[in-house]
Amino acid sequence: MTRRTTLRMGGPARWLAQPEDEKSLATLMRSLTPGTPGLALGGGSNMLVADEGFDGIMLDLTAKMNDIQKHAAEGGEWLIRVGGGASTRTVSHYSRRNGLSGLEFLAGIPGSVGGALKMNAGAYGSEMQNVLVWAELIDVHGQCHRRPVEALGLGYRKSAIPDGWIVASTLLRLHRDDPERIRRRIREMNQKRRRSQPLRYPSAGSVFKNPPEGPLAWELIDRAGLRGASEGAVQISEQHSNFFINRGGARTRDMLALIDCARERVLAESGVRLELELKVIGSGGVRRDL
Ligand SMILES: Cc1cc2nc3c(=O)[nH]c(=O)nc-3n(C[C@H](O)[C@H](O)[C@H](O)COP(=O)(O)OP(=O)(O)OC[C@H]3O[C@@H](n4cnc5c(N)ncnc54)[C@H](O)[C@@H]3O)c2cc1C
Repeated sequence: MTRRTTLRMGGPARWLAQPEDEKSLATLMRSLTPGTPGLALGGGSNMLVADEGFDGIMLDLTAKMNDIQKHAAEGGEWLIRVGGGASTRTVSHYSRRNGLSGLEFLAGIPGSVGGALKMNAGAYGSEMQNVLVWAELIDVHGQCHRRPVEALGLGYRKSAIPDGWIVASTLLRLHRDDPERIRRRIREMNQKRRRSQPLRYPSAGSVFKNPPEGPLAWELIDRAGLRGASEGAVQISEQHSNFFINRGGARTRDMLALIDCARERVLAESGVRLELELKVIGSGGVRRDL
């Protein structure tokens, strides 16, 4: 998984499938031996995979299930139907070119639309919850469910979409705006990002969620004196203390050790227990014990 995650670490998945469409994805899910761990893989930009790898099937939707279709809606709004594997950046720039506003925030978030929905990804005051109408999900038995946004339990960097269910398709609601104004907004967001984030190094973005109140996660890590700290080839970025970067050939065990260290030191220093934003994938699937 080093080649399929933005952290560039982790052992191999046993199988990788790139389904052609919803029907073949559903057929594949139905044909798996019950109990086989299966997980959707988007851009791998929020995943930390164990050094031992993942003993199951990674379902990569980015290869084929990535189409975008535009439909007119009432009241000057537009709907776009987007495959779960579509790249967030591609969809954001598609919208800009078509004079559709609402997805500016996705231009700087790596990964896929399915992954963005699972994580309710967001930035600069917008998140997936604000634009989603419904999603089509394939469950572990290959059954398809169309769920409206209210039924997906979307909150700060979380959803109630069960691990192992796949976001096959989404319907997003956008509104008309001048492409030039949209472009300017995207540029401003990207400039802010470049100023504050270590984008030259492999990372998974923010490692921890910001606590519901009080100082932000990076401030807590700073206060614990950990800016720049490292374990093996993993380092807490000098530029942004909630980004842990791979300085070359890093191992997942080092990343986990640094995560533990940051948590312990922040708890001791500030009394706050930091919650992971990153999904840690063990040999049997998403680890919930971390
Ligand atoms: C430099 C950088 C900056 C970032 N900035 C931000 C930011 O500003 N805001 C933000 O919210 N996040 C940010 N992130 C984190 C990450 O990009 C988002 O969480 C992103 O939405 C994850 O999408 P993905 O397709 O890469 O998911 P993956 O990493 O592939 O998967 C993450 C989780 O989603 C699941 N998943 C993936 N695809 C699907 C699918 N089709 N159906 C169901 N489940 C699926 C996976 O099984 C896994 O549990 C950043 C990351 C990086 C590297």
